[in-house]
Amino acid sequence: MQDARSFDAVVVGAGFAGLYMIHRLKQLGMSTLGIEAAEDVGGVWYRNRYPGAGCDMESLVYSYSFSKELEQEWEWPHRFARQPDLLSYLRHVAERFDLRRHIKFETRVTAARYDEASQTWNVETNREGSFKARFVIMATGCLSATNVPSFEGMEAFRGLCLHTCDWPQEPVDFTGKRVAVIGTGSSGIQSIPLIAQQAAHLTVLQRTPNFSLPANNGPLDADFVRKLKENYPAYREKVRYGELFGDGDLCVPIESLDPAPVSASEASPEELDRAYEDRWRRGGGFFIGAFSDIMNTDEANATAADFVRRKIAAIVKDPRVAKTLMPTDHPLGAKRLCIDTNYYATFNRDNVTLVNLREDPIRSMTPNGVMLASGEIEVDAIVLATGFDAITGPLLAIDLVGGNGQILRDKWQNGPRTYLGLGIAGFPNLFTITGPGSPSVLSNTVMSIEQHVDWIADCIAYMKRSSLSRIEATVAAEDDWVRQVDEAADAWLYKKAKNSWYMGANIPGKPRVFMPYVDSGGAYRRICDRVAANRYEGFILS
Ligand code: NAP
Repeated sequence: MQDARSFDAVVVGAGFAGLYMIHRLKQLGMSTLGIEAAEDVGGVWYRNRYPGAGCDMESLVYSYSFSKELEQEWEWPHRFARQPDLLSYLRHVAERFDLRRHIKFETRVTAARYDEASQTWNVETNREGSFKARFVIMATGCLSATNVPSFEGMEAFRGLCLHTCDWPQEPVDFTGKRVAVIGTGSSGIQSIPLIAQQAAHLTVLQRTPNFSLPANNGPLDADFVRKLKENYPAYREKVRYGELFGDGDLCVPIESLDPAPVSASEASPEELDRAYEDRWRRGGGFFIGAFSDIMNTDEANATAADFVRRKIAAIVKDPRVAKTLMPTDHPLGAKRLCIDTNYYATFNRDNVTLVNLREDPIRSMTPNGVMLASGEIEVDAIVLATGFDAITGPLLAIDLVGGNGQILRDKWQNGPRTYLGLGIAGFPNLFTITGPGSPSVLSNTVMSIEQHVDWIADCIAYMKRSSLSRIEATVAAEDDWVRQVDEAADAWLYKKAKNSWYMGANIPGKPRVFMPYVDSGGAYRRICDRVAANRYEGFILS
């Protein structure tokens, strides 16, 4: 390391994205400082330790592909990795590639300002002072800024109040306790069945029901793993180009994956049922690929949504509870699908009560629990499974000030604007990994992270080779990309989910903009490759 205050690059965050970025920059011989707010590596997989926390992408492809040795040697115990396994994996990666010594932990980046005269970023932190760097790479993740609702009287509650994303290091024992869970997105749906098994009584406070599909998770079969690992590069390539996601589809032999599933509109009722039943049984979000048009037309989508609603009716014994659990306000998959283990069946337990907040809203918190319109429920613990200020939240939490004093919060007041989700006009030498305007949360995230990191590292290497020191997206390229992101979503049903976090609609006052780029068949990757091949068209390099 050179002067300990001055680096070639600062990487903010040490999850999947930050770790690989530091590794690539090290390979380029760049002095690099990683800055991470948590005590250790892991990102979301460090903080989300709630019971049942795990990934909805299959472990064999929700993992790095950059090292063939790591890929072959690492043994995933489960089809869908659980949080402790993901954290062990990321800790192993940090050790194996000697990344830890480049990272300052328990340090939060509070601001970063670009100085045109010296062409450097000044990165300020909450406790380690400031650092200078030629490049800043935001590896801050899409789901790391917590959404904590402000219920009146919250501070008065005398029991334990936890957010799923800020779970304590030690397991929390709910045995004998009365617990309320607020929120029924992925985090609520994963944790509710396990909390119900421990608690004396669990009250689930649901505002909007979500579609959830069974994970059918379990130990990985050694023979299956061996065969997949023999063919790893082919599987990875299919994931990179969107032919596979790893959302449950690895269970189908690669040679028998139908590359062009038929339209749901053309299928008979028997064919629809057979296809949905088969995918429901296999488990995972792969259900949504049963027909080619589920995410494109209301009619096709309704066939899948009706199937899931029938499943809820069949699993949940009390028809009134079943009806409350059935989503009707958005197309299936237009909000992030949840993947569960025994979620709907949990509502058959005697110790579980479902409250429909649409009919009986929360008025306030009290010292002893939650005050609903219908009266108080007394609890010993409240779990906030209330999600995140997604995608833009982690970036806007930092005072980012670009060239000419432009403030990112001002620039994005009507919604995020980026070029490719990688660069921002007015913010030279700053890159975002899986930023708004990239496929990010609609893709296999680790594969998208690798693509972004490789693109950024290759770009920096090109700049070094060409003696260039400054890169900035043009306003024209950015405007055009923002338009393309919006148009790409129009061919899909996503915008029909009015209150999804993809749209920023879960955060009061946040602009309603569909933030991810809906990729199709690896188009995004090809666009990024073309931009690089054309000497970074859409960017100005000097
Ligand atoms: P989420 O999907 O945003 O769900 C938050 C829940 O809290 C919603 O049910 C929401 O209701 C409710 N809520 C928020 N504010 C509330 C309030 N003031 N009063 C009552 N209810 C309120 O958040 P999440 O479950 O943490 O999941 C976020 C994303 O993280 C997922 O979609 C997924 O991408 C990722 N994740 C993935 C996994 C996995 O890999 N399996 C696990 C966890 C999380 P409304 O819908 O009415 O707003």
